[in-house]
Amino acid sequence: MFNKRIKIKELLSLEPNNQQVTVMGWVRTFRNNQFIALNDGSTNTNLQVVVELGKYGDVFLKGITTSAALKVSGVVIPSLGKGQKLELRSEQIEILGESDPEKYPLQPKKHSLEFLREIAHLRFRTNTFGAVFRVRHTLGFAVHKFFNDKGFLYLQTPIITASDAEGAGEMFRVTTLPLENLPKNEDGSINFKEDFFGRGTNLTVSGQLEGELAATSFGDIYTFGPTFRAENSNTPRHLAEFWMIEPEMAFYDLEDNANLAEEFIKYIIRYAIDNSSDDLEFLAQRLADEEKQLPQEKRSEMGLVEKLEFVLNNNFERLTYTEAISILQESNHNKKKRFQFPITGWGMDLQSEHERYLVEKHFRKPVILTNYPREIKAFYMRQNDDGKTVAAMDILAPGIGEIVGGSQREERLEKLEQRMKEMNVPVDQLWWYLDTRRFGTVPHAGFGLGFERMVQFVTGMNNIRDVIAFPRAPKSADF
Ligand code: ATP
Ligand code: MN
Repeated sequence: MFNKRIKIKELLSLEPNNQQVTVMGWVRTFRNNQFIALNDGSTNTNLQVVVELGKYGDVFLKGITTSAALKVSGVVIPSLGKGQKLELRSEQIEILGESDPEKYPLQPKKHSLEFLREIAHLRFRTNTFGAVFRVRHTLGFAVHKFFNDKGFLYLQTPIITASDAEGAGEMFRVTTLPLENLPKNEDGSINFKEDFFGRGTNLTVSGQLEGELAATSFGDIYTFGPTFRAENSNTPRHLAEFWMIEPEMAFYDLEDNANLAEEFIKYIIRYAIDNSSDDLEFLAQRLADEEKQLPQEKRSEMGLVEKLEFVLNNNFERLTYTEAISILQESNHNKKKRFQFPITGWGMDLQSEHERYLVEKHFRKPVILTNYPREIKAFYMRQNDDGKTVAAMDILAPGIGEIVGGSQREERLEKLEQRMKEMNVPVDQLWWYLDTRRFGTVPHAGFGLGFERMVQFVTGMNNIRDVIAFPRAPKSADF
């Protein structure tokens, strides 16, 4: 049988006792024609394979190059060398796939993250990306576990959507119309009746509206899927294609919503610490090494794992938008005109520098900001009695800025319709959405958490393009 292999992670947990095993993986290094560091992706730790001296000819040994794929059978024995408890004394080595060292672009040395982005198809084979993507996997699993254990229903919302009314961002068009010869109406506009769906369609920017339909039947639901935004934001926190987790809960108000979001974030961080500790230790060390090149004042005060523990052990700071504005207004930072966008007063939208000031300088922990001015928020957010604000909440995280956006939804039909008209949201197109307010409407709330921003926070990776396998960003859609 070909596939009777033991994964290196499991092998390394054994007590060495002359067990006969077969491993398969890729060569990281080969020293002195004797020691192969073999990695199979199950863990960052390589297995030391010892090659019996004199057993193989030079030609064969020359084939054991970095990234060649091997099948090795042998015996697990205690290691004499430092740094590992056990090693594999090989009895049989088979080269499954060669790798030409002249052409293989990854050398056993440190490569820049920028360079690795250009060879994203191979970067999984580095220690850094091995760790990042195993942690990403663990976090994704924890998302499902958290909601499943709480009795939430996992809903898959459509990726192609006909509504362009969500207002969350610029959308990508989906069409089969010939771009070079578009069918036109008499008035010169494009005739979407001839398009695949008989109407204009887009890639979704959020599953929320559909999520609300399900929440008002199942009670608690969540989505976890890709979303698309054609925003021309060339930042280390924006992608054109990213994954979002959107829980939506009936019988929840804003405070319930904030409580759930805080519990959720802490749960998945705890899960990663408990289940990916070796990868997190590696990433913590990577970050510390990277920060050694920065001037003292730019380095993080805490190590990565320390920072995560700190988040777990402290309550998120909760305050209103109005309180945040006065903190920002009164800050020395503002008085000394250090913000690129000065604090102009109540009603302004917060820029990322303001959010980061609040979390990184003022409170030094995650912050939940609530009750934003209604003019800067979406039509579906519940209007507060003051006539000025809506029951919105954003969660801001150190080093990242906004990680969650959510709200209690407007469940009162008249108020919702009135707001839609004021904001030019087509009421007739969203008839199906408004039906939830017609038939058994209830207070409900939900939020969206950007999965990649969460992965960034947990792995300490600075650029969002390094926490998704194949990033999509302006002028960049390779692989
Ligand atoms: P931002 O102000 O950072 O652009 P947003 O207000 O557009 O965020 P929402 O529409 O509230 O964000 O989306 C919910 C969450 O999705 C955000 O809190 C963030 O974590 C994530 N998110 C939003 N846009 C992007 C993007 N372009 N790439 C990656 N994640 C994103
Ligand atoms: Mn945005």
